[in-house]
Amino acid sequence: MSTKPQKPCPICKKPRSEEHTPFCSTRCKDRDLAKWFGDGYAVPARPASPEEIASADWDAQD
Ligand SMILES: [Zn+2]
Repeated sequence: MSTKPQKPCPICKKPRSEEHTPFCSTRCKDRDLAKWFGDGYAVPARPASPEEIASADWDAQD
């Protein structure tokens, strides 16, 4: 047995890829990154808070 024991991808538990270690794919790598940044950062289309709307430059609209 010359193969090293491989831990699975921490995101989806599939066998990890040499290329994307410790993940199985770039998708899981991105998911892990998003996890660190937090859900609010990972989702681009989040609802704006009233405070943000008030401070935004809405005059340029329309
Ligand atoms: Zn994975």
